[in-house]
Amino acid sequence: MKCCYPNCNQDASSTWALVPLCVHHHKSIEEETGKYYHRNSHERIPYDQRENYLNISSQIPWSKKEW
Ligand SMILES: [Zn+2]
Repeated sequence: MKCCYPNCNQDASSTWALVPLCVHHHKSIEEETGKYYHRNSHERIPYDQRENYLNISSQIPWSKKEW
C-alpha cells in the first residue's frame, strides 16, 4: 500500500482516518491536528490552514466535502 498523500510515492506505514499514509505525512497531519484542536485558542490554526488534512480529506470515506 502506498501513501495516499498527493504526489507522494512512499510506502504507507499507517493510516489516518482510514487513508494510508507514510511516516512523514502521518506525522505532519498528527501535528497539524494537534494544533487545530489545541487547548489554547490562540495557538489554534483555522480549518482552512489544515493543509495536510485538506489534501487527503477527499479520500476520507466520511468526509464528503461539506465546504
Ligand atoms: Zn506520504
